[in-house]
Amino acid sequence: MNPNEPSDSRTEWTIADAKHYYGLKHWGGANFSVDTNGYLMVHPHGDSATIRIHDIVTEALSKGHKLPLTIRIQDLLRTRVVRLNQLFAQAIEEENYAGRYRGVFPIKVNQLREVVEEIQDAGSPFHYGFECGSKPELMIALAMHKDVESLIICNGYKDDAFVRLALSGRRLGKSIFLVVEQLSEVRRIIQLSKETGVRPLIGFRIKLATAGEGKWASSSGENAKFGLTSPEVIDAARRLKRAGLGDCLQLIHFHIGSQVPNIQTIKKATVEASRFYCELSKLGFPMRYLDVGGGLGIDYDGSRSNFESSMNYTLREYTRDVVYNIKSICQDAEVPPPDIISESGRAIVAPHSILITEVCDRISKTSVAPRASATTKCNPLIRDLRAILNNSHNSSPLERYHDAQQKIEEANNLFNLGYLPLKEKADADALYWAICRELVPSGEASTYAPEELESLPRVMAEQYVCNFSVFQSLIDHWACDQLFPVAPLHRLNEKPTVDATLVDITCDSEGKISKFTDVEDVRHSLRLHPLKPKEPYYLGVFLVGAYQDIMGDLHNLFGRVDEVHVFLEDDEEDGFYIEDSIKGFTINDVLGFTQYDGHLLTRMMKKQIDRATKADQIKPREGTRMLDEYAHLLKGPTYLSEDKQRQRRTKKQP
Ligand SMILES: *Cc1c(COP(=O)(O)O)cnc(C)c1O
Repeated sequence: MNPNEPSDSRTEWTIADAKHYYGLKHWGGANFSVDTNGYLMVHPHGDSATIRIHDIVTEALSKGHKLPLTIRIQDLLRTRVVRLNQLFAQAIEEENYAGRYRGVFPIKVNQLREVVEEIQDAGSPFHYGFECGSKPELMIALAMHKDVESLIICNGYKDDAFVRLALSGRRLGKSIFLVVEQLSEVRRIIQLSKETGVRPLIGFRIKLATAGEGKWASSSGENAKFGLTSPEVIDAARRLKRAGLGDCLQLIHFHIGSQVPNIQTIKKATVEASRFYCELSKLGFPMRYLDVGGGLGIDYDGSRSNFESSMNYTLREYTRDVVYNIKSICQDAEVPPPDIISESGRAIVAPHSILITEVCDRISKTSVAPRASATTKCNPLIRDLRAILNNSHNSSPLERYHDAQQKIEEANNLFNLGYLPLKEKADADALYWAICRELVPSGEASTYAPEELESLPRVMAEQYVCNFSVFQSLIDHWACDQLFPVAPLHRLNEKPTVDATLVDITCDSEGKISKFTDVEDVRHSLRLHPLKPKEPYYLGVFLVGAYQDIMGDLHNLFGRVDEVHVFLEDDEEDGFYIEDSIKGFTINDVLGFTQYDGHLLTRMMKKQIDRATKADQIKPREGTRMLDEYAHLLKGPTYLSEDKQRQRRTKKQP
């Protein structure tokens, strides 16, 4: 048996096993699957039109792109927009609801122009609008917005310029709402409306008593930084009336945080906000819209539970519950039902984007096998460890583990006291790790593993070094332990045999993925395939389209990765084409962000090289070569990249 592979009695492995193990049926829904050759497939519309993700990578590489790579499946983005709008329309019809759905896309969740354009295009039949939370986002929304039937919702803190910008939008005939987040904004809006002579459309964000749930729960509740309390609502409403702007107040808004795992939280919040809506309506304000904010989740682990990386409801259930609860509260209060707005960002954009990385190395405790026995004058300690490895005494796994523990402790003590030379310590360590490797429980449900051995898979897991930065591409995994599904793009018809965690190429020990999605629990290692020499091994990290791109940072100056935008295309043999691509940052780019100037640095290098040449430390030709290389690298990628001559060929697969 290969000492690097965990033992496992069952040898056959099927595509179904792969789908099950990597959770594709769960988090992937109708959008991801595996073909008979073991390749990961994306189904952008959830139907039979598919793209092999490995083909996209091959094509991107042939176009000169480098890994890591972000792949955007634009058709999948469209599917999500259409689905949300259709499900709301369906719920409205089923409930015989008298209002409409007028969704908006919150730009902050993914601001990339190509993403926003695609969403706008897919949403145009539904009059899908924009939500913005800052001046730059409002400037995007204002300029791109064409359909006067669709809404622009302005949340977030606002200064005079922000309010003025929104008022000019009103002058252009747009339905643009200023949502009041705090009392001081009411005064500002009243004053600027007077100054400009433009009547605004106004909404109130309510600070709900309903506490949020999940990782981003602090967006709501009494200590939230946004929203008006009920006395403030009354005060603000009175001020508007007094200023003659009473009829501008038409919208109630709430947002209980992102990725709300529990549908009960959403129902409660909807009910509470509907009550505010009805009361304001009864106070004589011409209320028209109820905005239920974001929070619609993504089932990252596929468990359909109220675990923080999951959600215990479906998109359909969400739309029905929102519509139903608003309807019943309004019915009871005899208030005409509002048009419903949702600001679902994560649910729209998360699925369309995939991060591709290549495993470029591995770190293993058993990379060097124990030396064959040197029988003569062998240290008794080593002899004992070897006996445990060979199981000469026919002991139980737990017994062997205990014996090995004892021996390795002895070895460490002897080494520290100066009685064990380094060579023999190396023998002892190698034997110890080989024993631990053998004792890793097989993971088969049928075999019972004693508790003390349960941590062994984690301890013995290999580390696969992947060419990417967690801080740039998966910031929420580092910052708030958010889990993303990970799976190989190919070889899924082969049995994976290596328990591994993933480490990135930053010089930061936190730059790693050591928690993985699982339907039942969190996994602490992921079973992957052994690396083959001269054959790249690609991993995909999925559902990364929301928030990650823009919140990523420049830790270690890696920065933005290459990116391709993929469309389905019947006429192409492999079913797709790459329309746009965006280059990641060059070294020169990231140096610029930290106030360095590439030319200046090159000149500083030249001075030193000239000096060394004059001093005969280096030959002139060598000096020129060094300088050329330096200047050339400035234009190159920040991530690991193979030398041209040594580059491994990736052939198109059958
Ligand atoms: C961030 C944010 C959203 C988007 O939330 P998701 O959970 O991603 O849908 C919507 N509305 C407001 C006010 C926000 O701040």
